[in-house]
Amino acid sequence: TPLAAPRNFKLPFIAATAILIIAAIYTSVLIMRQQTSLQAVSRYNVTWLLSQAAMELARLESVVGTLAVPGNTTHKDDVQLWLDIVYNRVQLFDSGEVAEFIRSSQESLASGNEFRRVIDEIQSLVDSLGQPENVGLIITKLTQLHPKLVRLAAAGNARGTELVNADLAQLSYLHWLFSALLAGLILCSFTLIAVLFWHNRLLGKAHQEVNGLVTNLKLTSNELSAANRRERQAMTEVRLQNQILQARDTELITQNARFDAALNNMSQALCMADANQQLIVCNVRFLELFELSPGVVQPGTLVADVFRIIAAVGRYDPNLIDGLCEQQQALVSSHSPGKFLQELPNGPALSISHQPMAGGGWVATYEDVTENRHAEARIRFMAHHDKLTSLPNRVHFHDRMADMLNEPSHSNERVAVLYLDLDYFKNVNDTLGHPAGDALLEAVADRLRQCVRDSDVVARLGGDEFAVLQRSVDQPAQAESLAQRIVERLRAPYDLNGHQAIVGVSVGIDIAAKRDTTPEMLMKNADMALYRAKAAGRGTYRFFVPEMDALMQGRRTMELDLREALGRNELEVYYQPIFDLAAGRVMGFEALLRWQHATIGMISPAQFVPLAEELGLINAIGEWTLQQACIDAMSWPSEIKVAVNLSAVQFHGEKLVQIVKDALEHSGLPPHRLELEVTETVLLQDNKKTLLILHRLREMGLRIALDDFGTGYASLSYLRSFPFDKLKIDQSFVREMATRPDCQVIVNSVADLASQLGIRTTAEGVETAEQLTWIRQAGCSEAQGYYFDMPQPKTLIRRWFAEVPETPFSGFPSEGGCNEKYALGLEHELDDKAAAVVS
Ligand code: C2E
Ligand code: MG
Ligand code: MG
Repeated sequence: TPLAAPRNFKLPFIAATAILIIAAIYTSVLIMRQQTSLQAVSRYNVTWLLSQAAMELARLESVVGTLAVPGNTTHKDDVQLWLDIVYNRVQLFDSGEVAEFIRSSQESLASGNEFRRVIDEIQSLVDSLGQPENVGLIITKLTQLHPKLVRLAAAGNARGTELVNADLAQLSYLHWLFSALLAGLILCSFTLIAVLFWHNRLLGKAHQEVNGLVTNLKLTSNELSAANRRERQAMTEVRLQNQILQARDTELITQNARFDAALNNMSQALCMADANQQLIVCNVRFLELFELSPGVVQPGTLVADVFRIIAAVGRYDPNLIDGLCEQQQALVSSHSPGKFLQELPNGPALSISHQPMAGGGWVATYEDVTENRHAEARIRFMAHHDKLTSLPNRVHFHDRMADMLNEPSHSNERVAVLYLDLDYFKNVNDTLGHPAGDALLEAVADRLRQCVRDSDVVARLGGDEFAVLQRSVDQPAQAESLAQRIVERLRAPYDLNGHQAIVGVSVGIDIAAKRDTTPEMLMKNADMALYRAKAAGRGTYRFFVPEMDALMQGRRTMELDLREALGRNELEVYYQPIFDLAAGRVMGFEALLRWQHATIGMISPAQFVPLAEELGLINAIGEWTLQQACIDAMSWPSEIKVAVNLSAVQFHGEKLVQIVKDALEHSGLPPHRLELEVTETVLLQDNKKTLLILHRLREMGLRIALDDFGTGYASLSYLRSFPFDKLKIDQSFVREMATRPDCQVIVNSVADLASQLGIRTTAEGVETAEQLTWIRQAGCSEAQGYYFDMPQPKTLIRRWFAEVPETPFSGFPSEGGCNEKYALGLEHELDDKAAAVVS
């Protein structure tokens, strides 16, 4: 920086000053020395000249004196020489310091003049030295002059001393002056140095200050530029704000236009009033809603007057308008927003939304919601009622039950739930069609309504399930009598569009015993009781008893076990022979599933197959059975077929055809040896899809049999819809052929019908020789039943192949022999088992 330069010169400057000082001291010493020597010389200059003159005069005197001495050898020249010397000396008295000294006083001037005159006189005497008196004269003159000259020399000496002293004083003065100057110089130098130091310090300070200033300046400059930037930004913002404001202005204008448009196109009527309750604006819809003419509601009109006019117009009941004004006035007074509905029972309904505005005014919208209210009521009703029967639905029933259970009971009233399930409703639905089914449900609902008191609640829970909620002090007697009434009333025949139908109802009852009974508990218990009533043969009622819970627990355990059964290898396929009556030999075996439960023992498929269907396990179980049956059949003689039962559930997915294909391919069984048995329920579901699957299976070369034929479905139409290879006449017909002639007729007709359609028939459940005779007479092609053999494990059926005679079969193995005995002997045992299962 520029301030650094002087600082850089400081050292050289100090050095130069030091050198100067040394030089001055040196010079001073030299002067002093010179002064001393000068003093010595100066002091003797005039004195010496005068004393020399005195000495030379004395010499002259002496030389002249020698002349007076006889025999001297002194020559006149010697005298002349010394006289010249003295003369020359006299000459010196006219110049320089000596002359100055001689002129300084009268006495010395007189002495000098006398000396010159005497010398001149002596010169003339010397010139005539040959005269003897001259020597004496000369000596006399000289002797007279000598003391004067000595005095002069002494005066000169004194004068010289004076001068020297004066010079010395002068020199001393000069010396001191010089020293003073030098000291001044040194002082100056020091002062200068001090000033320089001070200056430097000042400069340093100044430098710091300048630096500070520069920093401040920079900061200030930064701040300034930031401020500038901010200013620029602010300017930009202001410009933007301006633009926005302009845009807003434009928007505002557009919005105003839109507001007008919106106001007048609103679906709701709008009214705006100021703090004085005077009208500001109302829209076209407001005029329309209250049928007002535009002139009636001018801005500034009192709102109270407007509503008075509205009441007078009569579009709405004045009571409704009065109520509306009252409610709205309350909101106006409290300055609070609010929404309320003003309606008359079964009459018009207005929905009002009131909103206070700043400054005391308000805005409100009015809407006629009469239709909405009706629709809402309808929706509410629909949400809580069954569409078909208009009875409360499950949700509503549950709520009512919860209400009843929660109501504080002052008497000993107890709530009973009756859970109803129609018996054989499905048959009606399937045989007579859904419209008939619906008509039946409506009729059932009507009869139920007639069975109960007003305080009871009847509900349709879904499908053919109904429920009744009854509260009475006389429980369970009242519930039992109601159940009896219901069973009786519902059992009576129904006329369904010209068709007569008979259905029954099973009823499960539970009565809330404890205070903490929940609706769920009641329903669950009633359901269990219903299950029990059904198991007891339907058309009856049962009360819930705690043991039922244990039974249901058992069922639940069975569910869990069934999920594991396949993995645990507890399932096994048994085989029951099917006899070809014409050929007199076994033509095939029906695969019948068995579940060997680890603790319960053997469980019937009639029990666990529906459970497997319910749990979605039937697909896996069915696939496994099919594979197993195909594999087993491969070890039988090639003409022996295997029949496998399919559940309707297996037709739900897309995989059945592939599963069958895989089973055949995997086992290598030719398709014509596989027979699939389906029940009519299969055809009840998505008919098109089921038929397509059945056709594709049949196209593969295997045979399709219709199982349990005659148990109540519209079988004949199904016979038309698919070319079944076989009908299996249900064992219930065969069993009762001996006792019921109608069964004989049915079996004969079915066998006849089938033979005419080219369909083979199998009579199921042949247990006795008599039954065999009947079905033979009826013309059935095949027979199956305990009379021939029980379903057996695969290891035990091999004997059939060994025992089958080579020639066509003419009689049964040991008629009345082991098979028959075997079959008959087990009959009771089975019944016992069945009874055990039911209980
Ligand atoms: P189903 O297909 O009608 O089978 C005939 C049923 O009648 C078998 O009962 C059989 O043991 C029984 N039975 C045969 N002869 C007589 C007899 O002379 N008297 C009596 N009282 N009964 C006889 P099971 O084995 O208990 O099977 C019952 C039902 O379970 C079967 O009826 C069938 O619908 C179903 N089922 C059996 N195995 C399977 C299977 O693997 N898959 C499917 N989906 N259902 C199966
Ligand atoms: Mg079967
Ligand atoms: Mg059957």
